Amino acid sequence: MAKKDDDNPLEEIQKQLSQLLKGQNVQVAFAPFMKAAEDRQQESEEDDEEPIEPESDDSLQGFRDFDRKPKEIRDYLDRFVIKQEQAKRVLSVAVCDHYNHVRHCVENPDAASREYVKPNVLLLGPTGVGKTYLMRNVAKLLGVPFVKADATKFSETGYVGYDVEDIVRDLVKVADGDVELAQHGIIYVDEIDKIASAASKGGRDVSGRGVQINLLKLMEETEVNLHSAHDMMGQMKAMMEMQQGGKPGKRSISTRNILFIVSGAFDQLAEDVKRRLDRNKIGFGPSDADDDNTSRYLAMAETRDFINYGFEPEFVGRLPVRVACEELRPTDLAEILLSSEGNVLEQLRRDFQGYDISFEMDEESIHRVAELAYKENTGARGLVTVLERVFRDFKFELPSTAVKEFKVNAEMVDDPSVTLAKLLEDNADLLDEAMLGDIDRFAEDFKQRHGFSLRFHKPAKQALATIAKKSGRSVYAICERKFSDLEHGLKIIHQRTGRDSFPIDKKVVADPDKELSRWVVESFRGQEDES
Ligand code: ADP
Repeated sequence: MAKKDDDNPLEEIQKQLSQLLKGQNVQVAFAPFMKAAEDRQQESEEDDEEPIEPESDDSLQGFRDFDRKPKEIRDYLDRFVIKQEQAKRVLSVAVCDHYNHVRHCVENPDAASREYVKPNVLLLGPTGVGKTYLMRNVAKLLGVPFVKADATKFSETGYVGYDVEDIVRDLVKVADGDVELAQHGIIYVDEIDKIASAASKGGRDVSGRGVQINLLKLMEETEVNLHSAHDMMGQMKAMMEMQQGGKPGKRSISTRNILFIVSGAFDQLAEDVKRRLDRNKIGFGPSDADDDNTSRYLAMAETRDFINYGFEPEFVGRLPVRVACEELRPTDLAEILLSSEGNVLEQLRRDFQGYDISFEMDEESIHRVAELAYKENTGARGLVTVLERVFRDFKFELPSTAVKEFKVNAEMVDDPSVTLAKLLEDNADLLDEAMLGDIDRFAEDFKQRHGFSLRFHKPAKQALATIAKKSGRSVYAICERKFSDLEHGLKIIHQRTGRDSFPIDKKVVADPDKELSRWVVESFRGQEDES
């Protein structure tokens, strides 16, 4: 163990820095800094060889072994993502091309210097249709680090906001510090349409053009410092390591082989494309019947449409793969609940299972949920919202009832509160049963905690259940309120008489303190009688 150095000069620097930076927008991470210095000392005491970054050669093995085919990736995505056929095909090809290139470079370092056009992807489409979900699943399948950020969070200078380079550093964090792995990860930037530079597009008060140019540098090829200019401690730590004779490890991350996916809803763009197409069609009769189909127009967007929208030509040029995701219709939303792996219904089922309640929805009820979710206009996210709204009271009430099977039909989805009231009423008799069980559970817990058995008589249990029902509280809470304070009195009785089991009848329920006092007095009397 390295001994703690009381005269550590870092402590003094720490204090001075914190004084200096008070009220500034700079974070000072003392602990890791100190710990790093201590660890460093420990390492140098134990070992002359000091690897600064994790041994990374192994992390490249996965890339050497890459042998996926586009169809396999599409088939894997089909398990999780409903619809979006075109996006799945296009992404599968882009990802295979890219990681085939990576494999080639890893196997032949000379090839790395060759000209390479990265298949960065521009994903268009409304919110909640699976754009991020597609890429997360791709990254999971390939075992590469994945990070997502919103373009609106970036500021041009990084002074007030999040620097575009921070996202590359985040990739290293996700890769557990493995720079080599991070250099082959996937970065996803959402809400890219909000950094269109034309003010009329309603972007935030950031310089969209500046952010585009910064992002462009990343998408092309650049070296990003492992520590940001604002991460003073990180910078100093690196300096200290150098001074203490550490091997100058890789201090930067190359973005050359990082795949970029950018996405956005681009609603306005669909309008623009429609107008352009309509203009060209003047004199050719009315436009198509389903011309309100946004994704169809987005799919027809050309480079010039993006430039008119407010993007730098170079920026659009770095996004050679473009594909539009489709809106999810009610039938698609139902399909998500019926067949997509790991969907939100599975979680709901597990939630109820936690109370030994089996939960099933019939198909009609699933379609009803899907219709309601569609109205939310947030894609598949609407499913979570609707399920939460429909089932929140059931999740609160059912665990305290005797209901062990919860089968949901469309009527319940339409009117959850009426259904719940009826369900509770139908189960009122069984409710007592469930409550009796909860009282036994309280008695067991009481014994475990204090070592005394409380033997509840049936009428006492019924009295407790009645109180619980009338007050709308759980019977367990009523027991706790009434009997938790008995413990001290019972201890006294136990010390005098050795008794550790106590009957609880209706009188005790009505007035626990009075009965306890009586028991205590009796225990004294019993002792007097014995003496
Ligand atoms: P966005 O298109 O805004 O990136 P997300 O991919 O983040 O939307 O979708 C939010 C969530 O909704 C996902 O995590 C997933 O659970 C679900 N989801 C969205 N689209 C689909 C889809 N097409 N198939 C299955 N689940 C989906």
